Amino acid sequence: MHDKLVDNYGRIAKKLRISVTDRCNMSCVYCMPTNNMKWFEHNQILTFTEIVRLTSILVDLGVEKIRITGGEPLIRPRLENLIGAINMIPGIKHIDLTTNGLLLKGKVSQLSSSGLVSVNISLDSFKENKFKMMSGVTGVDKIINSIQHARDAGLDVKINTVVIRGWNDDEIVDFAMFARESGLTVRFIEFMPLDGSGIWKTDLVYSKREMIQRINTNIGEIVPINNDSSEPARLYSFLDGIGTIGFIPSITEPFCSKCDRIRLTSDGRFLTCLFENPGYDLKALLRDGAPDEEISRFILESMSKKPEGIIKLIRTNSLRPKLNLMHTIGG
Ligand code: SAM
Ligand code: SF4
Repeated sequence: MHDKLVDNYGRIAKKLRISVTDRCNMSCVYCMPTNNMKWFEHNQILTFTEIVRLTSILVDLGVEKIRITGGEPLIRPRLENLIGAINMIPGIKHIDLTTNGLLLKGKVSQLSSSGLVSVNISLDSFKENKFKMMSGVTGVDKIINSIQHARDAGLDVKINTVVIRGWNDDEIVDFAMFARESGLTVRFIEFMPLDGSGIWKTDLVYSKREMIQRINTNIGEIVPINNDSSEPARLYSFLDGIGTIGFIPSITEPFCSKCDRIRLTSDGRFLTCLFENPGYDLKALLRDGAPDEEISRFILESMSKKPEGIIKLIRTNSLRPKLNLMHTIGG
């Protein structure tokens, strides 16, 4: 029962992102709504048992890799229990986590013993005042500490940096130097219109091309290295081979034609695309007592309707702010 999750464009889903909460201990300018904040109620959120059941069904349909995300996933109590349970599902090859890193340091050992193998830690600035402007809180030192702890525990660590023109593009060179000096992959992400605050506009998107130019001019030339075409990040390295830098050019070079991802939101919706809203209500089926076969059928039917993606929104000039809420989807 594999490779069943095929859409009408022939794309096959292998990777599932599970958002375990819409809540967060930060309020990043490019992610969280600034007013009229309405969190999901507790009874709207899937329990771990429900998440594991839906994940098993999806694994049976061909999913191999899981990424746990949020909101901030580490504010969900006993997350390691969920990771441990997912790790037991036959067919799972890999479990990753995306976190802002604030709470990671104290949880690293439980997470890695429960089966977590890698972690993406988000960090948009090394400067505390800039970091606070972008995330609403202080904590650069805490995050750097978490990065070190995660490495020491043997987790594969990558850094995610969303670049916004006029906010943190002046730190691209610092982050590229950090990649060189630390040996960690830093991935620069173009700003997508998934902002709850409505601030997104084309002018704020700092493109992959501009980032490369900035690094080339200030440090030295970077060149593409062996890229995995199923990953949205385009990887580069300096000519001496030291320092790996990734770019996720969602706006200027969308990855849609190779997309192998699907998503489960914390309130139990199935999203076949980041830009699908509201998606398909799996929780209702689950809580109505539907058997696995019926849930599978519903998933396959939804999957066949997977939209082309942001590439179509760009082609039809339909990009605008708040196309979806990143804090409910998790990236
Ligand atoms: N709270 C965790 C974190 O920040 O890493 C996990 C959830 S967060 C929504 C997942 C990733 O999405 C983070 O790396 C974040 O920087 C990125 N992100 C959030 N809003 C974005 C946007 N509008 N455009 C591009 N990336 C965004
Ligand atoms: Fe929270 Fe992550 Fe969104 Fe920032 S990007 S507000 S840390 S969910």
